[in-house]
Amino acid sequence: MSTLQDSGALVLRPGDPEYDEVRRVHNGMIDKRPALIVRCRNAEHVVAALRLAREDSLEVSVRGCGHNVAGRAVCHGGLMIDLNLMKSAVVDQRERTVRAEPGLNWGEFNAATQAHGLAVTGGTISTTGIAGLTLGGGFGWLMGKFGFAADNLISAEVVTAQGEIVTASADQHPDLFWALRGGGGNFGVVTAFTFRLYPVGPLITGGFNFWPYEQAVDVLKLFREESAKISDDMSLVAALVRSPEAPHQPLAGIIACHAGPEADAERELATIRSFGTPVVEAIVRKPYEDVNAQYDFGFPDRALNYWKSSFMRDLPDPAIETMVADFDRCPSRMSIMMIEDIHGAATRVPVTATAIPHRSPGFNLLIPSVWLDPSQTGANVAWTRSTFEHLLPFFADGRYVNYLDDDEASRGGDPVRAAYGVNYERLVDVKTHYDPDNLFHLNYNIPPRRAVS
Ligand SMILES: Cc1cc2nc3c(=O)[nH]c(=O)nc-3n(C[C@H](O)[C@H](O)[C@H](O)COP(=O)(O)OP(=O)(O)OC[C@H]3O[C@@H](n4cnc5c(N)ncnc54)[C@H](O)[C@@H]3O)c2cc1C
Repeated sequence: MSTLQDSGALVLRPGDPEYDEVRRVHNGMIDKRPALIVRCRNAEHVVAALRLAREDSLEVSVRGCGHNVAGRAVCHGGLMIDLNLMKSAVVDQRERTVRAEPGLNWGEFNAATQAHGLAVTGGTISTTGIAGLTLGGGFGWLMGKFGFAADNLISAEVVTAQGEIVTASADQHPDLFWALRGGGGNFGVVTAFTFRLYPVGPLITGGFNFWPYEQAVDVLKLFREESAKISDDMSLVAALVRSPEAPHQPLAGIIACHAGPEADAERELATIRSFGTPVVEAIVRKPYEDVNAQYDFGFPDRALNYWKSSFMRDLPDPAIETMVADFDRCPSRMSIMMIEDIHGAATRVPVTATAIPHRSPGFNLLIPSVWLDPSQTGANVAWTRSTFEHLLPFFADGRYVNYLDDDEASRGGDPVRAAYGVNYERLVDVKTHYDPDNLFHLNYNIPPRRAVS
């Protein structure tokens, strides 16, 4: 312990003033109490924390911004490595890169890069952490144009399970670098990410149109048809929501982001703009940072969350009809049913080039159920599960690891294996090399092979 304190890391224990605030994560359903929280400010603090965990046989969890819905960032009785104080972002404008620390969220990251007119694919809302999102792959508004967040990683500074600080890149520890791009927190603690950046904005086109729920089936069909035509500049998400204003009637909408020239955006949006009679029309020119934050309000911190998701190769009419019927019965006015369109640059990367295997054009269905009243937990979890089950016949293979909740069991068994598909065995090899004792197991775990004696 003295080495840890000598290192200058801030250590919190139960009863300390900040302890309860720091152990809390985004999902208010999660209530875990680590024995120790180490608030790190640099890689050396992480090394010291891992040494203590090994000496005292403590389980280790790693927290970036705490958005993982299953709450894997925090542990019961173990040692939580909290990276949230590490928020530096150093942009190299000439090389178009940024060295970003793991405590940043996408809003903070975008503020640093957009000051130079640059950006890279980040999450669809601004409060999600760059670390967990990138390590799991990273879907976002710019993925059609630039690929997933992890596709743009140039290198990572990593503290390994052995307590070494290494750089992983195409030239150094290339297997580790491959695994970090999608393999989650299994391989070490990342203390800095270097990303490639691109000119974006300052103004792009983004926002949403919502239509009365009677038109929901037609809105989802419109989304399906437009998704088949759009350029890499455009990202579309279909959303079934309830109006934030009383009486909270259900609405069907399309959320758009076009990162190209305004004239191209207008041409691509023409059919959506002229469809039916929207009750909300809010697709406008605005800064990329505002597009990234445009529906943050729907995901308040500490609200209760329970999620289900799956890829869908197509969006047949019966799937659309099932979604519309089920969402109408949703018990919470805060829950959403959303369909993300995966296309463009993200789908042109070979399946085995990174750990992320999800390279087929298609859709990802996400049902993030969100509510505030704990007495409504049973009803919301039951609705989410039954809706998901009704949609099972329409799902493609594969699950997106960043959206898995805590009680996942996919049709094929192990959801983590299903999430990595053909890349799973290579991930096991890398895990066995870098973390043979499975020190980093509080994640979507890829267990190492057991040593043969
Ligand atoms: C409201 C909301 C919106 C979201 N939107 C998107 C989206 O648009 N696109 C998308 O792809 N995902 C999205 N997600 C999912 C998100 O990518 C994951 O929850 C991700 O884990 C969040 O990153 P974090 O750093 O906040 O996670 P944390 O909860 O802090 O960490 C999650 C896990 O990541 C690992 N980890 C975190 N930091 C490190 C590190 N530095 N080194 C090693 N391991 C680490 C650990 O295993 C940890 O358990 C969203 C989640 C929420 C709650």
